[in-house]
Amino acid sequence: MIRVDELQKSIISRVDEYLDIDNPLVSRQRVVLALNDALNHILAVDINANLDMPRQNVSAMDGFALAAQSQLQQGGEFTVIGESCAGTPFSGEILPNQAVRIFTGAVVPEGCDTVVMQEHTTFDQINITDKSQPYSIVLTKPAKVSANIRHQGEEIAQGDTLLSAGKRLNPSDISLLSGMGYDEIEVFSPLRIGLIATGDELVSIGQPLSNLAQIYNSNTPTLKALLSKLPIIIKDYGIVKDVFDETYEAVKHAIEECDIIISSAGVSVGDYDFLTEVVKSLGKINHYKVAMKPGKPFVFGEFATDARKVLYFGLPGNPLSTVVGCINFVRPALWQALGAIDAPLTLHLPAITTANIKKSAGRREYQRGYFEMGEKKLQVTPASAQDSHRIKQLSQANCLIVLDENSVGANQGEQVMIQLFDWVM
Ligand code: AMP
Ligand code: MG
Repeated sequence: MIRVDELQKSIISRVDEYLDIDNPLVSRQRVVLALNDALNHILAVDINANLDMPRQNVSAMDGFALAAQSQLQQGGEFTVIGESCAGTPFSGEILPNQAVRIFTGAVVPEGCDTVVMQEHTTFDQINITDKSQPYSIVLTKPAKVSANIRHQGEEIAQGDTLLSAGKRLNPSDISLLSGMGYDEIEVFSPLRIGLIATGDELVSIGQPLSNLAQIYNSNTPTLKALLSKLPIIIKDYGIVKDVFDETYEAVKHAIEECDIIISSAGVSVGDYDFLTEVVKSLGKINHYKVAMKPGKPFVFGEFATDARKVLYFGLPGNPLSTVVGCINFVRPALWQALGAIDAPLTLHLPAITTANIKKSAGRREYQRGYFEMGEKKLQVTPASAQDSHRIKQLSQANCLIVLDENSVGANQGEQVMIQLFDWVM
C-alpha cells in the first residue's frame, strides 16, 4: 500500500502535468475581479508598481524639516516659517537656518534636507501662545543630514515587480495593491469542483429522517466548509444511491461540468461500494488505498474527455476520514491545480503528550488531540477514543496527532508531532 508522503508526491506530480499548458486541467481562463473581492484568488499576471513609494520625500516623524546648509549641531537655532501637513505641502521658499513644522507622511519641502523629531528640539518648552509663526526652536541634540526622511521610490520604484502570477492574494497583498490604487485585478478563473455523496442511508440536512437506518449527509457540508477559502465554484450533485447505474450517471454528468470531482463513501470493499467500479469504467484509478488511519480506502483517479482532463478524489465515508483525507490530499491538490505558488501550509509542530498514545506499526495515524501552551512547550492531550466515526471528538479537537508508519505509540511526556487545524488560528 502506498505511503501518505508517496501519495502526496504522486498527486503533486500528476497535477503538475495537468497544469502543463498543452495538457490543461482547465483552460487557464482569467477573470477581472474588484480588489475587494479578490482575497484568496490566484493572480493571473505579474503586477508592476505604477507609482513610486513614497511618491516624494516625506517625513518619518512629527518635527521640523530643516533647510539645507543649516547649522545642525546641538544649540543650532531655527526660525519656523511654515507648515507641511500630510496632504498639504509647504510651498514657500526656505533659507538656511529656517525650518518648517512637519508631520509624519507630509512632503519634505524643496530646499530642506533633514528632519529633526520634535523631542530633539525645545518645541515642547515653548509657550503654546508663542507658537504662531514665525517662532524659534533650538536643537537639543545634533541633527544629521538626511535623517528621518523617507526618500522617493525608496521602498518601491515605479516599474518594480510587486507580485508574481500564481500569488494567492492575502490581506497584505490587498494592502500593497490598494496602496498602488488598483481597484481591479486579473486572477485565474475559479475551478469547478463537483461534490457527490453516496449512500442509501443518507438524507440531506433540512429533510426529515424517516427511519432509524437513516443518517444525515454531513460530508457534503463538511467538504464545503473545508474548501470555503478556495476560489472555486462548488457544484453539489447531492446524494446518489448505492446503485451502479445511478452512480455511473452522476459521475458522468459531473465529468461534463467540472474540473475536479470529489466523492465521499462507496469506495470500500462492501457489496454496495460501486464508486471504484464506476471510476474504472469512465476513467482510471491512479491509486487506491493509502497506508493511513483513518482514511485507508482513498481513491485518486482521473477522467479524460476530448477537450479536458478531470481529476477525481474518492474519500471514504466516515466523516473523520473525509476530513483527514481532504486536509492532507485534496485541499493541497486543489490549491496547486488553481495555480497557487504559495498554497497555505498545513502547520506541523512538536508537542509533549499528556497521556500515553496507543498505535501499532504499519500505517500513519492521524489521531484527534487538543493542544494548548504548556509552561515552555506545546502540550497535547489525545482524545480518549480514536474511532473514525466519532464526530463529537473531532469537534472538540483542535489538532491531529500525526504518528508515522513505524511509530508504536508514545508515552506520556514524550514529544509527538501535531498538525494544527487551520481554523484554530
Ligand atoms: P462507506 O465508505 O460507504 O463504507 O461509509 C462508511 C461510513 O460512513 C458509514 O457508516 C456511512 O454511513 C458513513 N457515511 C457515508 N457517507 C456519509 C456522509 N455523506 N455523511 C455522513 N456519514 C457518511
Ligand atoms: Mg456506503
